[in-house]
Amino acid sequence: MNNKIALVTGGSRGLGKDMAVNLAEKGIDIVITYHSNQSAANDVIKEINKIGQKAIALQLDVSNIHQFDDFFNHLKSKMKSEFGSSEFDFLVNNAGTGIYKPFLETTEEDFDEMINVHLKGVYFLTQKAISCMNDEGRIINISSGLARFSFPNSSAYASAKGAVEVFTRYLAKELASKKITANVVAPGAIATDFGGGENKTNEQKRQAVSNFTALGRVGEAEDIGGVVAFLCTPEAKWINGQRIEVSGGIFL
Ligand code: NDP
Repeated sequence: MNNKIALVTGGSRGLGKDMAVNLAEKGIDIVITYHSNQSAANDVIKEINKIGQKAIALQLDVSNIHQFDDFFNHLKSKMKSEFGSSEFDFLVNNAGTGIYKPFLETTEEDFDEMINVHLKGVYFLTQKAISCMNDEGRIINISSGLARFSFPNSSAYASAKGAVEVFTRYLAKELASKKITANVVAPGAIATDFGGGENKTNEQKRQAVSNFTALGRVGEAEDIGGVVAFLCTPEAKWINGQRIEVSGGIFL
């Protein structure tokens, strides 16, 4: 029997990379997508191969919905040749960029970018994905703590993430006939390259996040991937339509 297959968007770096590695450690074969950083994606493939799983990397711009038909055609033929199956089981909508700007300075262009990457792209990529997803699959949409609480300079980004949380509840209902579940994982602030790497390098912000967090530190990518992988295990089959915040307990 073929292994289960996960598609992780934005798996070349940061949280997506850690999700892909954790999924591979559970015996799942992996498709990651990258936007422009092919060499980082290739390194992730090598790491997954070392774990003993098969993996492929494909280019995808999640903000360009007109690319999606070609992407899925390419994906299906690659999966067939590399994994022996043109259907996958788990979709992790993770890819994304951030813009930190005060509400009064946010332009229409900034707003459209955030909506296209974090909402429109997720909505239509998921719609197109369903025809090549096996029944009893899982969808995990990556939101953010910022959809529950407000932190300055994130209004457009956080609004898109909030919408994805609503969208996820609709998916959980409307895909139930295929026994596909849909859940949200909402990380707190994590030290990755996201948004210019602020959570890695801005000491003032890191201190503020640590002070607001029950466990007293900024998150690391390794805090998140295992939770996403758990949601793809048989044990998690009854979790559906839920938002799981993974933040060390921020703003409790
Ligand atoms: P990183 O910047 O570390 O990684 C972003 C990933 O997304 C890379 O793989 C990148 O590809 C890919 N990517 C970026 N833009 C696009 C695009 N337009 N189309 C397709 N792929 C794209 O970010 P994180 O790992 O931190 O963030 C991952 C997710 O987690 C995002 O949805 C983010 O909103 C969310 N999140 C992050 C938090 C944080 O504090 N870091 C907190 C809460 C949520 P490439 O390598 O080719 O550039």
